[in-house]
Amino acid sequence: MEENKTILKNFIQKIIEEDLAAGKNNGKVITRFPPEPNGYLHIGHAKSICLNFGLAKQYDGVTHLRFDDTNPEKEEVEYAESIKTDVKWLGFDWGDKLFYASDYFEKLYDYAVLLIEKELAYVDSLDSEKIREYRGTLTEPGKASPYRNRSVKENLELFAKMRAGEFKEGECVLRAKIDMASPNINMRDPVLYRIKFASHHRTGDKWCIYPMYDYAHALSDAIEKITHSVCTLEFEDHRPLYNWCVEKTEIDAQPQQIEFARLNLTYVVMSKRKLLRLVKEGYVSGWDDPRMPTISGVRRRGYTPQAIHEFAARIGVAKADSIVDYALLEYCLREDLNRRAQRRMVVLDPLKLTIKNYPDDQVEWFDAENNPEDLSMGTRKIPFSKHVYIEKEDFMVDPPKKYFRLSPGGEVRLKHAYYVKCVDYKTDEAGNVTEVICEYDPKSKGGWTEDGRKVKGTSHWVSASHAIKIEVRLYNNLFLKENPEEDGDFIKNLNKDSLEILTSAIAEESLADAKPEERFQFLRQGYFCVDSKESSKEKPVFNRTVTLKDSFKI
Ligand code: ATP
Ligand code: MG
Repeated sequence: MEENKTILKNFIQKIIEEDLAAGKNNGKVITRFPPEPNGYLHIGHAKSICLNFGLAKQYDGVTHLRFDDTNPEKEEVEYAESIKTDVKWLGFDWGDKLFYASDYFEKLYDYAVLLIEKELAYVDSLDSEKIREYRGTLTEPGKASPYRNRSVKENLELFAKMRAGEFKEGECVLRAKIDMASPNINMRDPVLYRIKFASHHRTGDKWCIYPMYDYAHALSDAIEKITHSVCTLEFEDHRPLYNWCVEKTEIDAQPQQIEFARLNLTYVVMSKRKLLRLVKEGYVSGWDDPRMPTISGVRRRGYTPQAIHEFAARIGVAKADSIVDYALLEYCLREDLNRRAQRRMVVLDPLKLTIKNYPDDQVEWFDAENNPEDLSMGTRKIPFSKHVYIEKEDFMVDPPKKYFRLSPGGEVRLKHAYYVKCVDYKTDEAGNVTEVICEYDPKSKGGWTEDGRKVKGTSHWVSASHAIKIEVRLYNNLFLKENPEEDGDFIKNLNKDSLEILTSAIAEESLADAKPEERFQFLRQGYFCVDSKESSKEKPVFNRTVTLKDSFKI
């Protein structure tokens, strides 16, 4: 498996290696990650980030982080900042290669003037509805605008007036003059510039015309001399336009657009527009809600960058769209957390257990390994005393067959401590068990007996007088359906039980000092991480990152 991973090249690596062998681009590899700062990044973006930065790393190249900020109304500084944080958190570094498409607005304008001079662009005064109507359909060719043959002089004047703010929004646009009969609708005189009286988060009110994505993106790639412009499949039909823009503006660069399949995950919606709706309409607490598939959300939930890298490597890149099972991401996560998370004992749903024959004020300290997978992580001392807490589900008055936990007359091991046998229990008026009374075997210290007597069950526990109370947040999938959009609106498929808050979990004292984002395995309960936003020493809050086994339930 490991070997295959290094030997088998994906189709993008093959293209790059052929280019390098042919001496194209002077042997350079320059990729870019070009997010639009109109929302927080999600796991899909992580795939693209790992791919772009990974390729550059592999071929000794560089990756530019470029904000495609050509759409002033939807973009915010907060988004741009969060994107930088997320890319860094994933472990990638753009060095001094941080760019904004808006830095090129002046250049892009000049190139548009050049296109007009070459009779390859014109100002169209049709309104947007007419432009759409004239564009034709997949089966019918488009129709030329009556303004298509304006003179170069007139076009230059009109375009200058557009920039000067002399027209209203929608009154005219700049279009490329390509081919209204092209079978590819993208080539039917696409709009290059539109008028928008909107303040831009970086250029303020300097501009009232803004370049369209296809034009700005292709030219930004060319200006930065990007060699391999990797994007998702929906841009395949835009590639001829991408090439047209680079060629006709005569920029000295040969960026090659390469498309791959976007990542889709089961039980997840993954478009910024949809995620924004979840935030705006209050279905989640924010972009970084631990249930969100955003990078900030999964970070807060406790995911590791290494697990995401491994996931990206395993899904690879393909040319055909598919849906990846969320369980694969969780598998990568467990593998990674198993190696790096220290073990702790935490009782989520506490039941008091009193050891009758244990001296009242005695406390013993047992050694517990921090991670049996990695002994270099050392041990810690855990206190044991007469009163401990166990999980409610670890005791049953009337157990079914094959129940290996505690029941009247039964015996279990308290992890790292002693064997205890249930001799009695107490209930409240409603019959709920409120306390289990046990006797311990002093000869089973450390959890083993000299006579070799075996018990089937081992319970985790916390000493009552050495415990802290913590809040634990358990998460389930945000959506009930594998495809949340199966029957239209994904809001209808929201899982109302996606968050369960436990306010009286009992934990080892040492967890009071855990740092934000620090991760642990709570024995038998899964991997947890300190909530970076709401946890405090007075009230520690832990998010369950993932359960120990695939136990998806809704
Ligand atoms: P969304 O639809 O979620 O808003 P987008 O493509 O509009 O995504 P951009 O900010 O334009 O978001 O994307 C930046 C880069 O991330 C692009 O190169 C895009 O192709 C890539 N990308 C976005 N979504 C995915 C995905 N699900 N899988 C892989 N790459 C993606
Ligand atoms: Mg987009």
